[in-house]
Amino acid sequence: MSTQRTPYVGGNWKMNTNAAEGRSLIDSIHSTMKAGSVDVAVFPPFPYLMGIGQKLNGPISLGAQDLWHSENGAFTGEVSTSMLKDCGVSAVLTGHSERRHVIGESDELVNAKTKRALESGLTAVLCIGEQLEERESGQTDAVNERQVRAGLDGVSEEQLARVVIAYEPVWAIGTGKTATPEDAQDAHAKIRALIASMYSDSAAQEIRIIYGGSMKPGNAAELMAMSDVDGGLIGGASLKAEDFCAIIEAAQGSLVGS
Ligand code: PEP
Repeated sequence: MSTQRTPYVGGNWKMNTNAAEGRSLIDSIHSTMKAGSVDVAVFPPFPYLMGIGQKLNGPISLGAQDLWHSENGAFTGEVSTSMLKDCGVSAVLTGHSERRHVIGESDELVNAKTKRALESGLTAVLCIGEQLEERESGQTDAVNERQVRAGLDGVSEEQLARVVIAYEPVWAIGTGKTATPEDAQDAHAKIRALIASMYSDSAAQEIRIIYGGSMKPGNAAELMAMSDVDGGLIGGASLKAEDFCAIIEAAQGSLVGS
């Protein structure tokens, strides 16, 4: 990284682990992780948030994979930000590709959730990224721009300080295929320029833009060596403490002067 932005590494457990496996994963992460300047968060399934939160210590924060954008009421099956905060959650994913493309969440819903997260004082990890057909038809930048503009509609510059953008090309998520460091850098630089045009140069310099899509120990360092890649959102590799911690170490190593 060319600046001193603190890297951000998130572990998205998706719909994986049971209570015992989650506890043991956290124990292993705690015993393997080396101290350093990086923000780390884990995003366990809803039922395990409280239990995992009670086990977390030090630099790892607790994240949720989703939220509903109203407080209390007749929303069967949904979870509000005050419930999440009650469980110790400080960050939440919005717009993950599995929610956009499997569950069918629209840009408008992603925006409502992002705004609700920020109004509640949470960090929002806003996920964006193009699908394979969109990439093949040259629409990567247009899709990223649409999802960033829509996702951040009505978000103030002050609130933007609690936003992390995760660029996750959909074709790379869970597939073993990864964007090249140059392709990731190109997308991230364009997203940062877009943030400068929507907010300010300083907001653009400060925001963390992280990469997601089959990041693993073998490719993390080269991706995070790119000047606009400020960390990673990790799915599969976050379920193995050794791999997750190796990625965290790569993020620590990417800091200028480290
Ligand atoms: C993700 O779930 O956001 C993700 C990037 O998954 P994976 O690392 O498994 O591709």
